[in-house]
Amino acid sequence: MSVSAVAADRSVCAPLPVLGRDVLVPLVTGGEVDYAALDYAASAPALQRVWDDVAAYAPYYGSVHRGAGYLSQLSTDLFENSRRTIAEFLGCRDEDQVVFTRSTTDSLNLLAAVLPQNTRVFVFETEHHASLLPWEQRPDTAVTYLNAPRTPQQAVDTLEKALAGREPYGPALVCVTGASNVTGELWPVRELAAAAHAHGARIVLDAAQLAPHHPVDIAELDVDWVAFSGHKLYAPFGAGVLAGRADWLQAAEPYLAGGGASRKVSRRTDGGVDVEWHTTAARHEAGSPNVIGAYAIASACQALTEAGFDGLVAREQELIARVREGLAEVPEVKVLSLFGDDAPRVGVLSFVVEGWNSSHFAAALSAEYGIGVRDGLFCAHPLVRTLLGSEPQEPGECGAPEAAPGERSLNAIRVSFGAGT
Ligand code: PLP
Repeated sequence: MSVSAVAADRSVCAPLPVLGRDVLVPLVTGGEVDYAALDYAASAPALQRVWDDVAAYAPYYGSVHRGAGYLSQLSTDLFENSRRTIAEFLGCRDEDQVVFTRSTTDSLNLLAAVLPQNTRVFVFETEHHASLLPWEQRPDTAVTYLNAPRTPQQAVDTLEKALAGREPYGPALVCVTGASNVTGELWPVRELAAAAHAHGARIVLDAAQLAPHHPVDIAELDVDWVAFSGHKLYAPFGAGVLAGRADWLQAAEPYLAGGGASRKVSRRTDGGVDVEWHTTAARHEAGSPNVIGAYAIASACQALTEAGFDGLVAREQELIARVREGLAEVPEVKVLSLFGDDAPRVGVLSFVVEGWNSSHFAAALSAEYGIGVRDGLFCAHPLVRTLLGSEPQEPGECGAPEAAPGERSLNAIRVSFGAGT
């Protein structure tokens, strides 16, 4: 399909890209493949090892924690062993629990649901919406949104100042992303954790973009919780993880009420029902659990542990450098960055092309050049607004008005890599 066919289909009226095929294809793919799926930051293709492990288990699939039969026993073992494997992968402390969820979004909403009454939450406006938005769902929670910092040190200083200015009592939580899903830039997690703890606050790390590229060690980073998604960590099947301190998790009511979360349910003499809830991770895992999702995450964790991150990081950095070099040759292109061009980043990079609507540009990359990228505002509207120096387009992420030649783009294009690229 040609660019003009796409244009006809989508009623777009963009001219041909300013970058030619001879520049773009070798630039992004090294000329080695026909189609390059470069949207790992959205969902990363599963590792072959994960598919193999899941296929080997498939004939023995059974319900977890719900039967004396062989398949149920085996599935329960697999599920609980997966929990242990993930705890090891994350370097969990003895007091930590690993709760299976549906995704990072689900994990952070779970944490928001179990916050002690009247917790103060501190969050940078630059966060992905999954880590920006759950906190205000609790009416008793006061959220302080911190302005976008322009250096990692400024992030630490901003947090220090905000925490020092709060009343020195009551629970507080800081939520921070380890690696930006827009710029790929690494955040100073260890320093932010130290600042949080120095001021009596706790900290949760959104590791959705960090975990697929870097080891995440909960104890070494000294964060209280870590959240991530299986589908970004080379494991599919709709599962995620919230790992960390058990106390807030176990002091709160279950996230979902139902079988699996309850240890004992009995009728009271007054006609009501008394429930004793589990005090393990099961407290927040009501319903039949996603055993394949959990097993797939554990399999990916094991594969990453065995392979180590060094080769993956080296390959990603090589690809990012190649993309950057190529983009630098095109004056219309601006790479987006909060912390500056030389800031360390994972294999994620966003850019705009002056005078171009990024959605049209991305559609052309796919249809004409076989390069699958993401375009839009990446569920981080305040951050993209800061980076573009503009209001995000309305409505939603698609159908942006055409940027006139010479105008700023209204949304951005993202290229991202991972294991297997
Ligand atoms: N946090 C970050 C940094 C992300 O990039 C994403 C997804 O893109 C999420 C959270 C949400 O992940 P999920 O959609 O798997 O819940």
